Amino acid sequence: MELSERQEKIIEIVKGNGPITGEKIAGQLDLSRATLRPDLTILTMAGYLEARPRVGYFHTGKTGSELLTQQIQKYTVKEFQSVPVVVKEDNSVYDAIYALFLEDVGTLFVVDNHSCLIGVLSRKDLLRASIGNQDLNKVPVHMIMTRMPNVTICDQDDLLIDAAQKLITNQIDGLPVIKDTKNGPEVIGRITKTTVTKVFVELVNGDQF
Ligand code: ADP
Repeated sequence: MELSERQEKIIEIVKGNGPITGEKIAGQLDLSRATLRPDLTILTMAGYLEARPRVGYFHTGKTGSELLTQQIQKYTVKEFQSVPVVVKEDNSVYDAIYALFLEDVGTLFVVDNHSCLIGVLSRKDLLRASIGNQDLNKVPVHMIMTRMPNVTICDQDDLLIDAAQKLITNQIDGLPVIKDTKNGPEVIGRITKTTVTKVFVELVNGDQF
């Protein structure tokens, strides 16, 4: 989040004079308390200042990057997961390639009849299968997928940063978000490198999620 010139000045005043009331900050800036209120709200919500009733504003001492880190460490998978694209285990490689283009994704999850995860297919898995002379309509995806229990998964209550770490550690493009059911691990979402890239850009642009 980029601070305005006035917000920077407010922080300096509070740093040097805190605890200080809103009224006094306004006085030092030759502004009315009402004009200042939105800036004080933003600075308090963003964590730069702390407001104590009947005492005034304190500087928390946290830097922009500390606050950013704090914010990122609160993000959970469920806030950012997107819709998973799945194929059935007996679908052909040809069908899977078709789904990849139609749904505009890079990773497909392979499920059984209960929508439970049994494997994953990447672009290169499908390319590899396409290089040989086999009829892609006759090769079922379960022949070429990476199968459970070797699939790296995440839970919707996991921290987004932990899911991102799994993408890096395992050198993969996407993770299925899983919910445990009596039939097995149901696929309810996906987290991909694109998810994480979007968060990164939106954080810098100060967009609201
Ligand atoms: P690509 O193969 O197109 O570079 P990935 O890097 O995502 O894409 O996949 C590399 C390999 O890892 C593939 O064989 C794929 O089946 C496997 N893979 C992809 N996602 C996962 C996952 N979540 N867990 C385990 N293996 C995966």
